[in-house]
Amino acid sequence: MLENPIHGTDLGVLKEQYLVHATKLGYVTSSGRIRWKKLLQEFDFRFSAKFLELLQAPLLGRKSDHWLARILRNPRAVQAPIRHLLLMDFLGITSEVLFRTKAPLPLFGVGPWKCDNSVCPDCGGPKITTVEYMVSPEHGESIGEFTCPTCGQVKCRTIQTGWVRDRGPLWNSELERLWNDAKISVRYIGRKLAADSLTVKRHAAKLGLQFPRKGIRVSGKNGPPRIAKKIHRDESILKRRQTEWLDLQSENHMLSTTDLRNLAPACYAYLYRNCREWFKTHCPIKVCRVPPIQRVNWQTRDLELSQQVAPARKLLLQEVGRPHRISIAALGRQTHALGLIQKHLPKLPLTGASLAAAQESKPHFARRCKLWKARRDAMNDQHHVGTLQSLHVQKPEMTNPRTTQPENPFGIAVKLRQI
Ligand SMILES: [Zn+2]
Repeated sequence: MLENPIHGTDLGVLKEQYLVHATKLGYVTSSGRIRWKKLLQEFDFRFSAKFLELLQAPLLGRKSDHWLARILRNPRAVQAPIRHLLLMDFLGITSEVLFRTKAPLPLFGVGPWKCDNSVCPDCGGPKITTVEYMVSPEHGESIGEFTCPTCGQVKCRTIQTGWVRDRGPLWNSELERLWNDAKISVRYIGRKLAADSLTVKRHAAKLGLQFPRKGIRVSGKNGPPRIAKKIHRDESILKRRQTEWLDLQSENHMLSTTDLRNLAPACYAYLYRNCREWFKTHCPIKVCRVPPIQRVNWQTRDLELSQQVAPARKLLLQEVGRPHRISIAALGRQTHALGLIQKHLPKLPLTGASLAAAQESKPHFARRCKLWKARRDAMNDQHHVGTLQSLHVQKPEMTNPRTTQPENPFGIAVKLRQI
């Protein structure tokens, strides 16, 4: 302890360091409240009253002002080192461990905090030394409640926002005094009390002050402003609605929040209005309903399509009538995959190779046309048969003789011979 002196008035840090270890042992609730009953009972069990008396550290009367509370609650004065040693021993730590403990930063910083009540004599001065921590059942987050010891204003704060819960007796008495002064306006009162005119009127109504007010201008001719009724939430109703909502979800686990709302609109509305934070965390998880993407197995498709190219070419060659050149487009139309070939040929390497091999060259097409014309003429004139026979002996030109089969010209020639 002597090697780790506490400088200045930094007793709050020491308290936080103790509370870290007390929390680990279950002596502090999740909202930061000390479980005094449990702590004192176990402290009693650890150290006898006689022993504590011998060490001049008795816990007399168990009132809230015993030395343990002075260390752990609001350390305003230094306590004897023997008492700290007793507390460390009780918490099962050494002074080295205690001083090495990194206490979490308090939620609202280290006090004292300033009072912002405009009528408070200590306005702007750091006079608030205590903060009460609580967890809002509505918002589910920590709230700090700051009470000014001078003016009695109670202000609540969360991490994001703050509001005045009670303006305190000083503010109320000042309002009463100003309200009854007919020479000043409501706006002036508002400026003095750092509140807008409506807030002034509402508080005047709450305090039961005279309406309409007699002043420079008559205010509140229509009586006091309406004061929103404070909703006193019935915890039993809330619990019932929460259970109802959870049951509804478990019975209909496939339904969305909107579907559940349609099933139980009253339950939905109650929870949405009264405990929105809880409600947000107890709704079905939103599912992104995007239609499933059809995955194409391009390898299989390529293989299948490539196998269709040769039969398609054969069919095109067997077509009756004036020949048409066997182009890639013609093969695509024949296989009913023209669009696929035009758009996705890079994904179809086998098909691409088959098509390249199967498409007809210009000379080959020219010869085929010539043959067809000759055949047509032969049909008209039997004398042309000899000419056709001389033509068919020419070897057909293939774009890729390794992958394509010789066809048509021979077929036609054979037929012609039969003719
Ligand atoms: Zn104050």
